[in-house]
Amino acid sequence: MIVQKFRDIQESSDSSFRFEYRTDSGNHLTQLFWADGEGRKNYEVFGDAVSFDVTYRTNKYGMVFIPLVGIDNHWKSVTFGAILLEREDNENYRWACESFKKVFGKDPKCIITDQDLAMKAALQICFPLVKHRLCMWHIMKKFPSKLGTVFCAESGFMDKLGRVIWADHITPDEFEQGWIDAVDEFDLNENVWLKEMFDMRSLWIPAYFNDEPMVGLMRTTSRSESSNFYFGNYVQRGDTLSEFYICYQSAIEKQRNNAKKLTHYDDFTPKTITDREIEKDAIRLYTRDLFYKVQEEIRAGCMDIILLGMTCLDNVKKIKIQEPGKRTRIFEVELNMETHFIECSCKLFTRVGYLCSHAFFCLGICGIRIIPRQYVSNRWLKNAVERFSTLELGEISDRDATILSRRVQTQDCWFEF
Ligand SMILES: [Zn+2]
Repeated sequence: MIVQKFRDIQESSDSSFRFEYRTDSGNHLTQLFWADGEGRKNYEVFGDAVSFDVTYRTNKYGMVFIPLVGIDNHWKSVTFGAILLEREDNENYRWACESFKKVFGKDPKCIITDQDLAMKAALQICFPLVKHRLCMWHIMKKFPSKLGTVFCAESGFMDKLGRVIWADHITPDEFEQGWIDAVDEFDLNENVWLKEMFDMRSLWIPAYFNDEPMVGLMRTTSRSESSNFYFGNYVQRGDTLSEFYICYQSAIEKQRNNAKKLTHYDDFTPKTITDREIEKDAIRLYTRDLFYKVQEEIRAGCMDIILLGMTCLDNVKKIKIQEPGKRTRIFEVELNMETHFIECSCKLFTRVGYLCSHAFFCLGICGIRIIPRQYVSNRWLKNAVERFSTLELGEISDRDATILSRRVQTQDCWFEF
């Protein structure tokens, strides 16, 4: 039985492996939650936003499979652990949430799910202080089936709506006006599903949570589509849970190998595109993938910002700026020249954990040549897990590693995260 397998792993190869389970009166497994040592280490560092990717049922046991997915320091999906449940109801989700707390030990800042009401109710009880958001990706991919594939592809409606759905700097009022205008123009006022999505807008439209920590990651956290495809093929063959676990593990190994490759590339220095010292500072700090995102903010901060005005009182500078293409919006930045505290009204740092172009512009004109360290989030740094996880992994013997690697190689790559 898979529970025995997990005990063996815990005793012989990974003492940080944790699992929880329940059985019914006939001793059949009804719920299972697991996370290995490496998954728990990843959670410690990258567990600020977690997606509960409810996918589908395994064929033989009819259990719901829920990988727990976040974003790592390369801005790629990372799986922390997984859950199998007999049903998608409140009791099962309550158990899953309580197991999550036991296994990981600390709450995330933000949980992203699909639209399941039972899950929503369980999260509200078990994680009352954690922000719960719906996955935009899941909702956006439903548009064609709800409104018609041809209509979505050709009418221009999606372009018009997309401009207010995905906008970075937009107020709730502006979003609502944009949505109403698009729905009016394309005569969709009577569409029940669109109305439902509009009613729950505060749960999935970024304009409503621009100042909430790390919710910027939610746009990319859910990528179960490809896993659905591979996993669906696999379970049609009716395999046991132990075999299921081996396949799960092979997908995890593949994901971790990809992360290792990206970590290797961090040793190569990317090209700079400005002459600013702060760009070289960013190279020293961030993984390559993150550096390119920060580099774009630094570049825009050098070239795309117009200074409107600056005042200074008690060492605090208040700076008003505009972006050339967005002349209606004014950004306000506050910079303390003593503490290097800096805050921009666009709140990008809060949402994603690195500074915006407006902040880089202001640091530049005020002569600050390195990124203030309070704005360098550990989760984006090179070798973040090795440096910031406190969890010790159990030793894996050479023999165990060889057996595991041989098993993994024999499995088809049945799904990717
Ligand atoms: Zn900003």
